[in-house]
Amino acid sequence: MMVQERYDIVVIGAGPAGSVAARFAAENMASVLILERDREPGIPVRCAEGVSHNGIAPFIDIDQRWIASRIDVAKLHSPNGETANMYNNGLGYVLERRVFDAALCELAAKYGAHLITKADALDLVWEDGKITGVKYKYSGEIRKVKCDIVIGADGVESRVGRWAGIKTVVRLEDIDTCAQYTLTDIDIEKDTCEFYFGTKVSPGGYIWIFPKSDNTANVGIGLSGHLSHPKGPKEYLDEFVQRRFPKAKITYTMYGGVPTAATLDEIVKDNIMLVGDAARQVNPITGGGVVQAMIAGSIAGKVAAQAVKEKRFDKKFLKEYRKEWDKRLGKTQKTMFLMKERFMNMNDERFNRIVEFCQNIPRDKFSLKTLFTEAVKGNPKLMIDVAKAFLVSKIKMK
Ligand SMILES: Cc1cc2nc3c(=O)[nH]c(=O)nc-3n(C[C@H](O)[C@H](O)[C@H](O)COP(=O)(O)OP(=O)(O)OC[C@H]3O[C@@H](n4cnc5c(N)ncnc54)[C@H](O)[C@@H]3O)c2cc1C
Repeated sequence: MMVQERYDIVVIGAGPAGSVAARFAAENMASVLILERDREPGIPVRCAEGVSHNGIAPFIDIDQRWIASRIDVAKLHSPNGETANMYNNGLGYVLERRVFDAALCELAAKYGAHLITKADALDLVWEDGKITGVKYKYSGEIRKVKCDIVIGADGVESRVGRWAGIKTVVRLEDIDTCAQYTLTDIDIEKDTCEFYFGTKVSPGGYIWIFPKSDNTANVGIGLSGHLSHPKGPKEYLDEFVQRRFPKAKITYTMYGGVPTAATLDEIVKDNIMLVGDAARQVNPITGGGVVQAMIAGSIAGKVAAQAVKEKRFDKKFLKEYRKEWDKRLGKTQKTMFLMKERFMNMNDERFNRIVEFCQNIPRDKFSLKTLFTEAVKGNPKLMIDVAKAFLVSKIKMK
């Protein structure tokens, strides 16, 4: 493939946000180049890989190649050792993200997007105060590519927004620091994701077990940034693994951050858009961001292609993406963000009560709404927000 000197749109990052944005832009007739820093999309994996069927199905045909396991049950563990099973939560999957991310990228390519891997974006190119392209390093060589729109999909450590003068900093308490092992030779149920809560197990966060087969799982922890000192996520995780899976073998170790904030105030400017983790579009309570990144990518890709058709690359035009995002998920995300504080500060007694409450909900009556309503009980303002969120759109978990 010959790389052109200019494209309508350059997407930085081939994660779910970037690949889906590229696919929708290309499908709507824009010429698109994706720059990916790593050797191939999806590697290294920095994810627990849990998603809902309803979240991903609109974007890609479900393929067994990238499904490690099907999830029907979520099991909650309270600090006092009680458990509750949630059944009526919709089908979920634990993915093989290295295959899934590559498949999303292949789809973008099928619609005509070009991709260069091992292409590290270094900066934006400016002419007369306007963004006109991207500078990147490929095979030790510094190159420039011209474009009308840059889509920054470069993940949690995003620099693209900063290059464009966008304030991307989030508070320490709005970044979860995570550690995760893939463990094998363990005793788990393949169709059940497990969650452990409590101030001693995981202050301001939770421990997850996401099965990848009947004896392998992603087992990890996320702690709110300001609660991860002096004891960090690795120490908490090691203690947990020692207790629950003393004989386990570790096949993969990963550390990473998750922005658990609301979407940035500014996600578009003249000639630029931010999507996915780069725009802080993660579910602030669960830390799930794959589906959110795909939804944002699809909206951004379509708006960018329309901008190309109308030759309108100004912030005012590109703001259509913001409007649509807020309608689809942004507003709900903000409500979740307001609720997060409440979750973070919950004491063990409250977790115990919630799990006890869940034990008493009949299997077919269970919904996330019931759970959230119980969690915010006693706080009338939050209860109204939750009610509104459910009226506007159903809260989408991972
Ligand atoms: C421990 C952990 C567990 C998680 N578990 C889940 C989960 O179970 N379910 C879920 O939905 N979400 C989960 N998430 C969040 C999820 O991984 C992210 O929200 C999701 O990957 C965001 O997609 P993205 O496309 O925005 O960014 P990413 O997937 O991070 O992709 C960004 C891409 O940009 C590339 N890039 C970066 N800088 C440059 C550059 N300068 N030039 C070129 N390319 C560049 C990167 O190499 C990368 O490929 C988890 C995150 C962590 C850390």
